[in-house]
Amino acid sequence: MPHTLPDLPYPYEALEPHIDAQTMHLHHDLHHKAYVDGLNNAEAKLASARETGDFALVKHWSREAAFHGAGHFLHCIFWQNMSPNGGAPTGDLATAIVRDFGSFDAFKAHFLAAANAVEGSGWAILARQQQGAQQLVILQSEKHQNLSQWSVTPLLVLDVWEHAYYLKYQNRRAEYTKAFMNVVNWNDVQWRFGNS
Ligand code: MN
Repeated sequence: MPHTLPDLPYPYEALEPHIDAQTMHLHHDLHHKAYVDGLNNAEAKLASARETGDFALVKHWSREAAFHGAGHFLHCIFWQNMSPNGGAPTGDLATAIVRDFGSFDAFKAHFLAAANAVEGSGWAILARQQQGAQQLVILQSEKHQNLSQWSVTPLLVLDVWEHAYYLKYQNRRAEYTKAFMNVVNWNDVQWRFGNS
């Protein structure tokens, strides 16, 4: 299914004077649109690779899909993350922020420092760990394509760093990955799928 550019959840000028309407037009209509188009193109190229069995460019199109996918999904969150009537966190979120950052002011200082220290293009991201106490964390993304597509839940992961296979397979990673498919716990993958 092709991805589409979502409408802004408010008029372009709604965030004035903090964020101007012209910026919103350029940012949403051109920049975000380019991510959507790039993601659709990359996914189409990967689909034809599966059809033909020619995976010569899989690395290129995976990177393109990650770059544009991260751009698309992060911008979708970004637009929804903003509103002319922002207010302050309440309920469970307010409690978690105080638990994990000490206070709302401390969170704000940390988040802004992280945002201001990102080199060049990138993002500051408040995120929730999916394991343990599900604590909140602040991350910096300088190359969002290197940090996954963000708005996804991992279902099946395959560790291909050498420490995962060199004792048995040395440099023969393809043998290791093939062997891995024999030990996939699909019950677990299915559980993750059902809970995502
Ligand atoms: Mn942007």
